[in-house]
Amino acid sequence: MQDNFAYLLPFILMTFGSVFLGLQVVGFRPGRYWGLGYILAATGFALPMVLPQSFDLFGALLANFVFLVAFFLYGHALLVHFAAPTYARLRLGGAAVAYLAVCFFILVQPNLRNELATSDMGLALLLAPSILLVRHRARNLMDKLLLAAATLSVAETLTRVGIFLWFTSGASPESVGAYFASDYSYLAQFTASICGFLMALSVLGSAVARVIEQHRVAADQDPLTGLLNRRGFDLSAPDFRLSSPPDGAVMICDIDHFKSVNDRFGHATGDRVIIALASLLKETLPASAKVARFGGEEFVAYVPDMPASQLAILANMARSAFAARNWSEGPFPVHITSSFGVSAIALGDHSIHDAISRADGFLYRAKEAGRNQVFQEGIALLGVTPVASLKVVAS
Ligand code: GH3
Ligand code: MG
Ligand code: MG
Repeated sequence: MQDNFAYLLPFILMTFGSVFLGLQVVGFRPGRYWGLGYILAATGFALPMVLPQSFDLFGALLANFVFLVAFFLYGHALLVHFAAPTYARLRLGGAAVAYLAVCFFILVQPNLRNELATSDMGLALLLAPSILLVRHRARNLMDKLLLAAATLSVAETLTRVGIFLWFTSGASPESVGAYFASDYSYLAQFTASICGFLMALSVLGSAVARVIEQHRVAADQDPLTGLLNRRGFDLSAPDFRLSSPPDGAVMICDIDHFKSVNDRFGHATGDRVIIALASLLKETLPASAKVARFGGEEFVAYVPDMPASQLAILANMARSAFAARNWSEGPFPVHITSSFGVSAIALGDHSIHDAISRADGFLYRAKEAGRNQVFQEGIALLGVTPVASLKVVAS
């Protein structure tokens, strides 16, 4: 029974390690450290089964090295997982000191009791600082479970060392032998394996939660500007079915003669122009605004609890700041302009798209009226002054 268990553990750890390495492909960055850590731990547990008896000394040096590196990697994985500073050199130094101490009790002053206790203490001390560094960073249940499992692993290791030292307090080689023949030893192996298994399961849970979250955010976001895309906007828009239409206003905006911007300055410059207007809108509108890129060079924003007249003033500020920017690196200034339509959400609107479609009509009016202006409910905003300098014009 014990032998079967011994064969099973490396196999399980190796499987987890391979899965973690595989999860890198779908964007789980710490996967490489968890993966290598678990594969090394699997190797460490498999060593006594593959190395011949005559390799006892070499086997002890190698197994201790492999476990210390595995725990260094677990600590590293935790820090990367929670985007904390890794202090890699300092922690590598700690691992090297622990390994030298273990080597001392293997080579210089051979003592199995001290070797085993030092090695296990080293493993716990390699993981514990990482847990302390990330303890406030867990955002969801899976992250909290992962931290709990890592803490349990450290606590279990330290308890195991305590029991071992107490059991072998006679410090004779016989007492160490008696320990390994005891039920304590078997129970310790069993709980250590359960803790390793629980930690692997919680890493897996946390990794899956992370990957789903990353893909959910990416699915709702426009990659060029970081604004919401149409799907993200629709998901965050208020639900009109539950009650009467919410208070607020919408705005739609389109860059003027953008085709000729691309034609004259290239697609890359066109992209920079789109990004610039996106940041300007984000800066000008309140934090509660849902700002989206609906496609090409067209942006939509919904601002809750704001009258259309107020939103039109903000839109006009963004319009004039955008038009004032000089895009030329040469002697002749180049100004690019944008047009806006603004509409209040009205009683009788069935969805936010009713208001957007009215605002789109006003945008069309702004384009027809000569571009570079804001139309609110069909009226051009007072104080619109077309930029005097050279504008990009349609060819
Ligand atoms: P108008 O003043 O009437 O809006 O004229 P316009 O030239 O801006 O007209 P239109 O909306 O038809 O042109 C949009 C152009 O935007 C066409 C397309 O080549 C360009 N475009 C769409 N998506 C992108 C993008 O991601 N990057 C860049 N650089 N150009 C894009
Ligand atoms: Mg346009
Ligand atoms: Mg357009």
